[in-house]
Amino acid sequence: MNLKMPILRPIAQLGHPILREVAAKITDPLDPAIQALIDDMLVTVADVNGVGIAAPQVYRSLSLFIAASRPNPRSPQAPEMEPTAMINPEIIWYSEQKEYGWEGCLSIPGLRGVVPRHSRIGVRYLSRTGVVREAEYGDFLARVFQHEFDHLNGLLFLDRVESTHDLMAEQEYLKNR
Ligand SMILES: [Zn+2]
Repeated sequence: MNLKMPILRPIAQLGHPILREVAAKITDPLDPAIQALIDDMLVTVADVNGVGIAAPQVYRSLSLFIAASRPNPRSPQAPEMEPTAMINPEIIWYSEQKEYGWEGCLSIPGLRGVVPRHSRIGVRYLSRTGVVREAEYGDFLARVFQHEFDHLNGLLFLDRVESTHDLMAEQEYLKNR
């Protein structure tokens, strides 16, 4: 059990080199420093109305992200899920079919872009208690997982946008939603 009070962590912004690194695998999920990091990421992602956050975004190049989809002012249409820490995640299969959808990123404020993602994926990860979990995601949750997973490989949604015409200022994006 972690007795430290969770704190809000600062978020690395586009241009910081840590966002371009390949994150290291976590050897001991139960390490108190990892548990504290997870608690801090949970409060941080809630504070900034994110639907996910990856450890490199809080300046830790580790293979860990939080998926925390729920409707909020940044993503009004997001489905509700229990915020979940995913350690050393892998995509074990994916549909050939892709779909295009809007994404934003806490590390790229003010910008949205249309990004193609696999429609369905099967995933495996370690829970915060170190248990192997497998899950299948479709639609928005598949998108959240693939976006966060990209962060662990030093990729940003901008790298997957197919045309600059698929970019929009967040202010314009939110007008129509
Ligand atoms: Zn992001």
